[in-house]
Amino acid sequence: MTIDATTESSDLYPVTRLAAAREATAAAGIDALLLTPSPDLRYVTGYEALPLERLTCLVLPSAGEAFLMVPRLELPAAEHSPASRLGIEFVPWDETDDPYAVVAARLGKVGGVGRVGLADRMWAMQSLRFRDAIPGAEQVLAGSVLRDLRMRKSPAETAALREAGAAIDAVHAQVPGFLRAGRTEREVGRDIAEAIIAAGHSTVDFVIVASGPNGASPHHELSDRVIGAGEPVVVDIGGQMPGGYCSDSTRVYCVGEPPADFVKYYDVLQRAQQAACDAVRPGVSCESIDAAAREIIEAEGYGRYFIHRTGHGIGLETHEEPYIVAGNTEPMAPGFAFSVEPGIYLPGVHGARIEDILVCTEDGGERVNHRPHELIIV
Ligand code: ZN
Ligand code: ZN
Ligand code: ZN
Repeated sequence: MTIDATTESSDLYPVTRLAAAREATAAAGIDALLLTPSPDLRYVTGYEALPLERLTCLVLPSAGEAFLMVPRLELPAAEHSPASRLGIEFVPWDETDDPYAVVAARLGKVGGVGRVGLADRMWAMQSLRFRDAIPGAEQVLAGSVLRDLRMRKSPAETAALREAGAAIDAVHAQVPGFLRAGRTEREVGRDIAEAIIAAGHSTVDFVIVASGPNGASPHHELSDRVIGAGEPVVVDIGGQMPGGYCSDSTRVYCVGEPPADFVKYYDVLQRAQQAACDAVRPGVSCESIDAAAREIIEAEGYGRYFIHRTGHGIGLETHEEPYIVAGNTEPMAPGFAFSVEPGIYLPGVHGARIEDILVCTEDGGERVNHRPHELIIV
């Protein structure tokens, strides 16, 4: 995959982000961030580096110059990445070098290494090597510093999420053409995966086609089950766009006439999803969005069948902060992007979930998905 480093990176990955991350690091009392290939590294530098056993690592001291440790064989890739715009030193290391010792020595020169922030998705083998190389340092998660930045999407990031939303909507629009009685979930899933790429995604992240009783398992993916007439089918799909931002949307289809008990709770679910979307505005807590959906489902007697939180943040990762869950008192702020996806699951029978991605604006929640919420009869 080639990324146009000029158009994409300047907007989505502004060079000012390095300074913002450094400031946040200093404010958190952390001496340096150590970012190995991960969404954290991509967020700060724009560099989508391969996660490998050889160490690639952005070292961002709160006092001192940032540098990128990079295996010599990865140097050309790093130099062609958006990280080359940051004006930081690239430090190539050879196969017989100890890159962890190099990082430790360099950090020693810029002062204290009392606390280091490791990329949330750093491999354990790397975090333990860092522990040995910098034995005095307390290791904390870089996410504790970067979460506040990553949760508040910039206008360019919001635009990227809208683009991802439009792409997955275009796939949902084709699903009725793929679904019919007699086909297996896997056959339908293959068609959907192709359509996800054709719609502009660079990768397929997940394809859930959950027919009949499988619909009661929220993260059922695909099976060889043959879809039968009169069965509801939960279709939850998503992928990553070339710029890095993710899509995620769920709709429910029914192959022929739906069962009466299903229609009854689908209507409840639709009202719950709408109520949660309507509750979004700056200043309200994340948990209050969850409560808005849950109260309706509970009042109708389906509370014990709503077995997960209402949503998750989305951006460079499909699941990231903020989580829309009881106990999360974080106040919503403009730029927060997250799913609203209540579900009702009757074990062994069928289930349903409706999911849109929303961005919190000054005026309330803006949906990036626009497919109809009604049960779609195919
Ligand atoms: Zn999920
Ligand atoms: Zn989701
Ligand atoms: Zn989903």
